[in-house]
This record gives sequence, C-alpha cells and structure tokens, in this order.
Amino acid sequence: MTLDEKAEILPGDRFDAIIVGAGFTGLYMLHVLRQKGFTARLVDGASNVGGTWYWNRYPGARCDIESMQYSYQFSEELQQEWEWKERYASQPEILSYIEHVTERFELRRDIQFDTRIEAATFDEAANEWAVETDRGVTLRARYFIMGVGCLSAPIKPTFDGEGTFAGETYQTSLWPKEPVDFTGKRVGIIGVGSSAIQSAPLIAEDAAHVYLYQRTPNFVVPAQNRPLSAAEVADIKSDYKGFRAKAYAGLTAFLFKRHDDSVFDLAPDERRARFDEFWNIGGLPFLGAFNDILFNDDANQACIDYWRSRIDEIIDDPKVAALLTPDEEFGCKRLCAGTGYYETFNRDNVTLVDVRNKGIERLTPGGLRAGGVDYDLDTIIYATGFDAMTGSVTRIKITGKDGQTIQEKWDEGPKTYLGLMISGFPNMFNMVSAGSPSVLATMVTSAEQHGDWVGECLEYMRDNGKAVIDATLEAEAEWSAAVKRAGDASLRTNCDSWYVGSNVEGKPRAFAPYIGGWPPYVARCNAETQSDYANCVLTPG
Ligand code: NAP
Repeated sequence: MTLDEKAEILPGDRFDAIIVGAGFTGLYMLHVLRQKGFTARLVDGASNVGGTWYWNRYPGARCDIESMQYSYQFSEELQQEWEWKERYASQPEILSYIEHVTERFELRRDIQFDTRIEAATFDEAANEWAVETDRGVTLRARYFIMGVGCLSAPIKPTFDGEGTFAGETYQTSLWPKEPVDFTGKRVGIIGVGSSAIQSAPLIAEDAAHVYLYQRTPNFVVPAQNRPLSAAEVADIKSDYKGFRAKAYAGLTAFLFKRHDDSVFDLAPDERRARFDEFWNIGGLPFLGAFNDILFNDDANQACIDYWRSRIDEIIDDPKVAALLTPDEEFGCKRLCAGTGYYETFNRDNVTLVDVRNKGIERLTPGGLRAGGVDYDLDTIIYATGFDAMTGSVTRIKITGKDGQTIQEKWDEGPKTYLGLMISGFPNMFNMVSAGSPSVLATMVTSAEQHGDWVGECLEYMRDNGKAVIDATLEAEAEWSAAVKRAGDASLRTNCDSWYVGSNVEGKPRAFAPYIGGWPPYVARCNAETQSDYANCVLTPG
C-alpha cells in the first residue's frame, strides 16, 4: 500500500476495537491487537502517521528525550536496525522513524486517515461503542481506545482586532508541510514555551527582525544536542535490552545520570563544579545534579542562583537577562531545553517584548499592539501551547453509561482508574493521558506499557467470555486521590502550567499526570491484571 492509499471505512463497519490517533500510542496498540487476533481500525485526522510529530513541524522542532530512549523497544530487530543520528532527534527524523515502523509492521492497511472522530457513545443494549466520524460514517466496535496524546489540542488565543492582521499567521502546533521562508520578514512570536524556544533562534537567522512577546519567562538549560558517536550507539546496542531495563527501573522510565546527594552536602566550589558538569550534560538531565532541587526550597534557590549566573554570562543586556528570569521555582514548569536561545537575544534583530502586565492589546492590519506600542509585522507565529492532558479527550463528545458525557464526568478535573479507565465509560481505554505517568515518563515507553496492558485485558475478556469491563467508582476515587496526593507532594503544583490546566480559561485546576513514579505505577497495573481485574466489574457477553 502506498502513502496515497488509505483504509476506507464504510457505514456499519464493525471492529473489535477502534483506536483514535496514529501517534506512537495508537500505532503500537494497533500492532498489539493485530498480533492477538483482534480486528481494529485506527482513525486519525491527519493525512499520515506521526501524531504530535506530524503536526509540530515548526523550525527546530526536536524531542527533549534522548533518541536512543525515545523509541520503541518491543522489537529487538527494530531497535538494532534503526540508526539515530543525533542525541536528540529532530522532528523529521522522528517522523521518518514512525513511518518506518508503520511500513515494517504493515500497519497502514488498518488506518483511516483524514478522518476525525467527533463523537462516541456507549450503546448499553449492544455493549458496544458507536463512533461517529466527520465523514458522516458511524463505526461500531466493542472497545474504544483513545491514543490522542497529551499535547495535541492546540490553543490559539483571540485578541481584539481578530481577523484584521493582513500578514501571514502560523501556529507552531499546526505548521504547514511546505517550508516557510522568513527571509527579510518582520516576525512576531507570541509565547515563550518550548516551541518558541526551539524555533526563535532559527527564525532569527533568516528574518529581518523577530519580536518575542513574553508573558511569563521559562527556565531554559542548553540541550547540548550533538551527533551520536558510533561508539556510544554500539555500546547501547550491545545490550539494548539491559539498557532499557535500567531505564524502566527508574522513576521517569528514562535513564540519565543522577546524584543522590543534597545541594548542601557539597562546599560552594564543589557545588558549582557539579552544576557545571550537569549544565554541560544539558537538557532535562540537568535536574539530576542533586536529589533535592525539586523538593527543597533552599536547594531550588541554589539552582536558580547558578542558572542566573550562567545566563548573566551569556546575555549582554542585564535588563533582558532580568526579564528572562522566572519568579517561580526551578523545574516547577517542565524544564525547557534550548539551543542558542539566550544567545539569540544578543542579536540586533531580536527584541524581547514584556507583555506580562497589559498583554497583547490588539491585532492591527499592520501587526499588533502591546504595551501601547504598535509593532509592524509581516508574520505572526502563535507558539501558545495546548489544552494539555485532557483537551484532546474532551474535544470529542464521548458519552458513557446513563448518558453521562466525559465533560460532565471531568467537570472538576480528570478522574481515572490507573489513567487507563474511566468509571461509567465501559470498554473504553484512555491511553498515556491524565492519571498515568504519561508526560512525566518516556511517552514511547508508556505507549508500550499501556498497549501491552490493554492487549492482555482484551485477551482475558475474550478467553473468559466477558463482554464489558468497567472500573468501579471506588477504585477510580482511590486512584484519583493517589494521583492528587502525589501531585501535592511535588513542587510542580506550586506554579501555573499546562500540567495543572491553568493555561486554559475555566479549566479546573488539577495536576493531571501521576507523579508517584514509574515503577510503582507499573506494579499497580500489573497487580490489577494478576488479580483478574479485581477493581473492575466484568460482565459476561
Ligand atoms: P507552552 O509551554 O504552554 O507555552 C505557551 C506560551 O504561550 C507561554 O509562554 C504562554 O504564556 C504563551 N501564551 C499563551 N497565550 C498567550 C496570550 N494570550 N498572550 C501571550 N502569551 C500567551 O506551549 P509549548 O511551547 O507548545 O510547549 C508545551 C509543551 O510541549 C512543553 O512544555 C513540552 O512538554 C512540549 N514540547 C516539547 C518539546 C521538546 O520535546 N523539546 C518541544 C515543544 C513542546 P504563559 O506562560 O504566560 O501562559
């Protein structure tokens, strides 16, 4: 089958499972179900596989988890044969990897592209899901599996004067496939999260001028990306399984150097040397320098002091350095990994615009107005983030038992059992999302663990003549309380971020992922399987 060919769905088509989302999660789920002899159809609104990596193709898009770990491990042949080029893979490289996996495991014939799921309703009489597409076709399946991603429901704020801007507008999370030429353009970038941090330095190389409109600064550490050496790849591949097992045993399911001592165990010069060492390692592993950066206010402040000393060395203008300094704890928001981000503010053609107080006042035909100043722009880029964790789920009209919708169910924040199940929504599985480690662990590893768990569950149902599985309300309440407890114990709930949903107006504040650690989470999932789903109600078919 070629890229142009698509699996077609017909009215009345029935499958064992419908999977939504052709990213890492949905593709692996499809593979597992086919291996186990289930019929499945995977549906995606895009024209090809990739999920997040299909849409986020802005300049500089790159993963912040190392490529040798941000990849599937279910097939030893696959992980041996694929050659990652860089420590952190770029979006095009990840996309070609996902396409390779799709072809290698012949997944394409069961994927329906260019089709969005608009609604899904559990039919209690038939014990199956009726799933409505935007093509006016309704599919039916016993199981409904959401692999829709945590950062895949983009947000684009509206401003006064909406629609008046005469120039070009782009959104990092919905970037066009054709290259965008910024040569000679005056470009305004709204937002300074990871997407802007990655793209701004590259856009500034071509543009006449780049204005970065910053409401809240972020902590950025250097990614320290580099080509992978043949020797380090060979070393990992000589025992890839063992390498993966070590990662699996860690709290975040990915392996990085970490010290188990306190900031205050070392004398000031040794402490600085340790921070220097981890600055040179770069990226998220920077947090491994000491064990208390995320847990002790004074240790966190010591980390901020170090970080500030480094950016003061990089940035020429102290006023700009001050503006780029967050006033929250280090690592409260997801730490950003950048390449040349702070350096870019030393360029004559880059201006940081503080919109903390008044915000962006309005769009104008010639650009935008902020802080009473009119900025003349040819291009505006929205790097304004996502309705994270739950938005991709609640944007679909999902109706469970007794007519309850997912919006009603989650009106005070997400409630799940192990992140995987939602009581009252039988035979539905919500993969790598709220209530599981998801964004706090390696997404690909999470996708495989969830895929295996759901595959085993469906096999159990088939082998034991069960038609319906639903988590009990008690189990869901107990797990949701555990998710909240773990979140409250971490400083990550102390600031506004997409983790807690504060970037979406009206969204109930709740720390959505499970931060209690990967090994305890996996143990809990395994216990559920081994107990024959003791915390669920199983109904015979
Ligand atoms: P983000 O971190 O949520 O950043 C959005 C930015 O837009 C923030 O600076 C936000 O300001 C700003 N913003 C939103 N509405 C605004 C408005 N009305 N006026 C002015 N500013 C506005 O989104 P993101 O950069 O897309 O990153 C989201 C997450 O995706 C990251 O944390 C990361 O987990 C993931 N990601 C990862 C990578 C990677 O692997 N390296 C790359 C990109 C994204 P406020 O903070 O004030 O709300």
